[in-house]
Amino acid sequence: EVRVRFCPSPTGNLHVGGVRTALFNWAFARHYGGTLVLRVEDTDAERSTRESEQYLIDSLKWLGLDWDEGPEVGGPDGPYRQSERFDIYREVATKLLDGGYAYECYCTTAEVEERAKLRPKGAPSGYDGFCRDLSEDQRAAFLAEGRKPVLRMRIPDGEIAFDDLVRGPVSFSSEYVPDYVIVRANGHPLYTLVNPVDDALMRITHVLRGEDLLSSTPRQLIMYTALGAVGVTDGTVPRFGHLPFVMGEGNKKLSKRDTGGGLDEYRKAGYLPEGLLNYLALLGWAIADDRDVFSKEEMAQAFDIRRVNSSASRFDPKKALAINASHIRMLGHDELAAALVPYLAEAGLISDPPTDAEQQLLSATVPLINERINTLAEAVSMAGFLFVADDRIEYSEGAFKPADAETLAAAQAALSEVEFDHASIEMALRTALVDGLGLKPRNAFGPVRTAVTGSKISPPLFESLELLGRESALARIDRAIA
Ligand code: GLU
Repeated sequence: EVRVRFCPSPTGNLHVGGVRTALFNWAFARHYGGTLVLRVEDTDAERSTRESEQYLIDSLKWLGLDWDEGPEVGGPDGPYRQSERFDIYREVATKLLDGGYAYECYCTTAEVEERAKLRPKGAPSGYDGFCRDLSEDQRAAFLAEGRKPVLRMRIPDGEIAFDDLVRGPVSFSSEYVPDYVIVRANGHPLYTLVNPVDDALMRITHVLRGEDLLSSTPRQLIMYTALGAVGVTDGTVPRFGHLPFVMGEGNKKLSKRDTGGGLDEYRKAGYLPEGLLNYLALLGWAIADDRDVFSKEEMAQAFDIRRVNSSASRFDPKKALAINASHIRMLGHDELAAALVPYLAEAGLISDPPTDAEQQLLSATVPLINERINTLAEAVSMAGFLFVADDRIEYSEGAFKPADAETLAAAQAALSEVEFDHASIEMALRTALVDGLGLKPRNAFGPVRTAVTGSKISPPLFESLELLGRESALARIDRAIA
């Protein structure tokens, strides 16, 4: 049975790299009909908050990802919040200490650093094992000084090798894997302990996570062996796959503080969850050589961790936008209308839920913009003029040239008489402005567009006029001329 996990720390905005990790775990679990566990890694009490946890859960749900076990759904291996598992960690730590797989270290940070400075350049830089084999007397002396020990893992000599699902064979010499701290002097367990212990106890079979955690893996492999040896588990070791970095501007690793780095930005900008997921999937994985637009179900069906690229991928905002636009084009008109509601409501253009009249106008607007917007929020600037009162249309300085007055007056005359459907409107305006005044179409329709929409860019003019209705169209042209 495949069991994978996504285990974020609830400390703030979700990073797009983190979303990609969640997505790949989701796709892997769904591909094999396995189980996805959501585990909240909130042992850092100062940085973790319940609001962040709720935000994480809401964000994952907004993305359309689902999981089978987790803090709000429960499951056989809970609790799924690490802050609720301290008893478990304490017990495991004691067993590791008693079994000799961990030892108490009384060195201060300053002492460790002082000794590290004395080592030759290029020598391994981690903890030097000073407290590995203290005698009872030495221990007693340290305690008498009032020192409190941290707990360190004892890394056995040798090579630590594994077959990474993404990178292939990887190996570390134990010389470069220091005896790392697993419990602080105040008894607080660290990531180095709780993460592999929970993976083991939650029977995780595959650990798919970011490449930044590659150096944790040899340590964790040692931990799994120790956990088996002291009887915490049967000693089973999961497979590991490390996902390549996502690079942003200037070839630096994309961080959640960078533009384009945090999930919220995409939500605000009006990305469709599926469009964003599709784009993030392409950072390291491709469904096929000749196709890059796909649904998350198609991804789950085709997902193959062995085909994830091991080299860093570059974040490309233009491509992200283009993929999102493709997903917008794939929506039915009703679906798109529904997706637009929160964005139009946020901008104060309609209420949420919309009134019948607003809903009707929205349904009529969708066919005019569905091929033109790349994000949902673009609908606000592109079609907002249809939803506001006539006196809310603003004209910038120099929006009209002196000659436009005559054009607008002629347009007004034409529009007061015509049957108000887009074909008749087009005919009437062409006759009056192009034939009548001898204007080029751009000079004829440009001022009309600006007068009714307040902008030089809009959905098709004649259709827009039809939707707006005669009364509003005339009122707006009046204001423009005035
Ligand atoms: N809580 C860790 C993080 O957010 C999880 C790392 C892991 O997947 O092992 O970085």
